[in-house]
Amino acid sequence: MLQVKNIYFSYDKTPVLKDVSFILKQGEHLSIIGESGSGKSTLLKVLYGEFDIAKGTIFWSDKRVLGPKYNLVVGCDFMKYVAQEFDLMPFTSVEENIGKFLSNFFPEEKKERVAELLEVVELTNFSNTKVKVLSGGQKQRVALARALAKQPEILLLDEPFSHIDNFKKQSLRRNVFRYLKEKEITCIVATHDKEDVLGYADTMVVLNNNQIEASDTPNNLYNNPKTPLIASFFGEFNSIDEEIVYANQLKIVEHSNLKVTVNQSYFKGSYYLIEAHLNDELVFFENDLELEINQEVYLEIVS
Ligand code: ADP
Ligand code: MG
Repeated sequence: MLQVKNIYFSYDKTPVLKDVSFILKQGEHLSIIGESGSGKSTLLKVLYGEFDIAKGTIFWSDKRVLGPKYNLVVGCDFMKYVAQEFDLMPFTSVEENIGKFLSNFFPEEKKERVAELLEVVELTNFSNTKVKVLSGGQKQRVALARALAKQPEILLLDEPFSHIDNFKKQSLRRNVFRYLKEKEITCIVATHDKEDVLGYADTMVVLNNNQIEASDTPNNLYNNPKTPLIASFFGEFNSIDEEIVYANQLKIVEHSNLKVTVNQSYFKGSYYLIEAHLNDELVFFENDLELEINQEVYLEIVS
């Protein structure tokens, strides 16, 4: 179990993390979300022991995570961290990079392990390619595989799929997160992409203004978003009579007291996102068909 208790951290005078606490059980998947600059990367680095914190404690079971003041080498062997900027050996092959921390005393096992990891990150065909010539997304996958190589108990991932194109992203995400669940590797993923969270995370921590704004299951936060920030993470939403209403909760009806004038239709694949005026405000709703500009329609909130 990871126990983070009342931690405070600042790089200089201004606090970046204020009174952050949460608990994560072994094998659970936690997402840390928040706007750019909200402190997600800082929190991961603090958990990894990269910085000394001003206050608070971090424990993994009975092992305390301490900063560089108390540790000659940053990090602990039960934990791995994949930074937003990954640091690989550019002039050696993908295979060698992934196997970097594996013992050479068991060459067969090492080979098998690397092959397994190449499959998880879908890079089998690139095993002999030099890292230098890989794309940003491919490098990110090598960094991921290398972090997994020695089977950490806990894995910290900073926007792990941010460099990976949409063609690959979906299957890669499924592979990696399935692998982590199977091996019961506790993971903490910093992200601003809801696709990294929904369907995978057991719990979420929302960072805002240097603090935890909410912490709950994705399901509870989606169904009961207490603040606009939380709602905006999940999708387009409106504030109607001080209530948060997602775009997909508004439907066209024959008549209602919500009369809007269409402004724009955006093709979204399986639906159109319609932007409309409700008096002086903009509202967004989903519709199967494109609507004409200036068309007037009535909306109803469905839940
Ligand atoms: P996020 O990952 O959510 O985008 P960060 O943790 O990178 O946020 O940054 C949080 C805040 O800390 C920002 O205001 C950022 O400018 C500041 N910050 C990040 N790294 C450093 C650093 N090395 N020195 C000083 N300030 C930093
Ligand atoms: Mg970051």
